[in-house]
Amino acid sequence: MAVDIAGRRGIIRRYFDHLPVSDATPVVTLDEGDTPLIFSERLSNEVDAEVWLKYEGLNPTGSFKDRGMTLAISKALEEGSDAVLCASTGNTSASAAAYAARGGLTCGVLIPRGNVALGKLAQALVHGATVLEIEGNFDRALELSRELADRYPVTLVNSVNPFRIEGQKTAAFEIAQALGRAPDLHVMPVGNAGNITAYWRGYSEARRANWISDTPIMYGFQAEGASPIVRGAVVDEPDTIATAIRIGNPASWKGALQAAEESEGAIRSVPDDEIVLGYRSLAREGLFVELASAASIAGLRQLKASGAVPSGAVVVCVLTGHGLKDPDSAIGDGPRPQIVEANVEAILAKLELA
Ligand SMILES: *Cc1c(COP(=O)(O)O)cnc(C)c1O
Repeated sequence: MAVDIAGRRGIIRRYFDHLPVSDATPVVTLDEGDTPLIFSERLSNEVDAEVWLKYEGLNPTGSFKDRGMTLAISKALEEGSDAVLCASTGNTSASAAAYAARGGLTCGVLIPRGNVALGKLAQALVHGATVLEIEGNFDRALELSRELADRYPVTLVNSVNPFRIEGQKTAAFEIAQALGRAPDLHVMPVGNAGNITAYWRGYSEARRANWISDTPIMYGFQAEGASPIVRGAVVDEPDTIATAIRIGNPASWKGALQAAEESEGAIRSVPDDEIVLGYRSLAREGLFVELASAASIAGLRQLKASGAVPSGAVVVCVLTGHGLKDPDSAIGDGPRPQIVEANVEAILAKLELA
């Protein structure tokens, strides 16, 4: 049966001329990218600006990692690799496992013991990855993965793999094309700092291609307990409820600083309780995200309070991952379902309809 793929779904086909690929590249895709840019009326009113949310949780495995993974796995296959490896706080492993399965590669993942959200772990396992929990944090898992990839025939698919950043820059292309201009401010969470590096590259290339005439001011937000870039020193025991950004020694540290400096923005930090408030306000607006994603909203509020959001500014906040990945954090000690008798009167009373 002939299959028509002329619709050019997935970031490699859509941005073929802007990525390090050729006709010889076997494209391993799950139709990632092309995610919604959602206008937030409530946040716009709150900060007196035009706030857009780039909802990356709607990628195939529920996070932006898929944009980089389609390219990393396709290139691994092109180069003749038959195994990939990554260290992960969860989403990289979920994405690597899915794309490796799609491409017929074996996949090993190293995760910090006890600190990976249930949904992400389920994804890596269901797609057939070999999941190894190490006694150590993400930074140690990444060190070990790098050492293994140096010495053995396995391709590292963390964001130190340059194809990851290349793939992830396409989110900035989409924003530029959707708005028809660059945002004034771009606000996002920072963990290992690959994604802010990628967005800055994407905006810079979009300007060179004349899709936009400007680039945004870039603001990256770490969690306060995991804010090595803000402190200017490695954090040995990073701690935050936002596990996707619980990273003490970011691999793309320099890329984050470069994005902040060149765009005249900054890397800052937000406390966990403000991340939780951001998470709740997004949920009340119908958007279910990961805690780490809500650092964007906490960051936006901090920027507003410090006078860094001009009235009417066009702002993009990146929502990096889907809330369903972490049901434990979602439910937490919040409200539970109420038990009710199976009759109309009892239900009406609970619903306060009668
Ligand atoms: C990976 C990840 C981040 C952090 O991105 P970096 O590129 O490591 O800075 C933030 N949020 C979510 C949901 C992630 O999966």
